[in-house]
Amino acid sequence: MASTALTGVIIGGAGHSGSTLLGMILSGLDGAVYIGEGAKVRYLGDMSKPLKKRACKICGDDCAFWNGFHWDAKRGLYEQVAAHSGARIVIDSSKKPDWITVRADELRTGGHEARLIVLTRDGRAVVNSRLRKYPDRDPAAQIAEWMEQIGSARALAESFPGPVLHLAYEELATRPEDTARHLAAFIGASYDPSMLAFSAREHHPLGGNNGTQFLAARGQAGAARIQPGERSAAYYRNHPDEIRLDLRWRDEFAPDHAALFDQMAGTLNQSMKWGI
Ligand SMILES: [Zn+2]
Repeated sequence: MASTALTGVIIGGAGHSGSTLLGMILSGLDGAVYIGEGAKVRYLGDMSKPLKKRACKICGDDCAFWNGFHWDAKRGLYEQVAAHSGARIVIDSSKKPDWITVRADELRTGGHEARLIVLTRDGRAVVNSRLRKYPDRDPAAQIAEWMEQIGSARALAESFPGPVLHLAYEELATRPEDTARHLAAFIGASYDPSMLAFSAREHHPLGGNNGTQFLAARGQAGAARIQPGERSAAYYRNHPDEIRLDLRWRDEFAPDHAALFDQMAGTLNQSMKWGI
């Protein structure tokens, strides 16, 4: 059994919903570490995998945080990360329900706390982000995938063996201070204004969104490694050093894709719709 109390905070939901931003904000809690998409810890140092999968996104293979870390799968991952880093709160934005279920069981077995944050975002913004990044993918398949991920995240929330918080990305981005206070209380930690100044801290994320990491790492050594995608380059290069709601989908979403989205997912998206 563990000798120190540990809280694992796991972010569920669909990709492209702001989980990198959320993880970076939470990393400002006292005693917290944000590991990025923890599931990628399995590939750490595996040279047969591409760099973005096997290493810290900001430092690459030579990372002061991950150097010397080898997950012993017989031990709880977050327990091992806590021992490696001295953190008491480990934040993981993996999102995949199977991974989250196993980690939550591991935490409970070790006598620790598990918290789940289900992060949602207007589905039109999510699908548009994916089509911006992967313009050759089938829009209907992207919409269907988002719908399925929302369904899985809801099922996970129902069965999760611990407290669950539902959070909209848009709330986080438009009311960051209130939301950060609420998040801190949910995790059982004290709000710290530095949570919002996430670019002032170092980060060593596995996986996650390049654009947000680019913003966060502008002042960090090794930052040149992180570049936003080609279609996002101008947006992120001109982005001020503050949390700002990303509504690019309103200008970018093609009318036929918007119509298809409404037809397939309009009902599901009703509760997640932001603005008109
Ligand atoms: Zn690093």
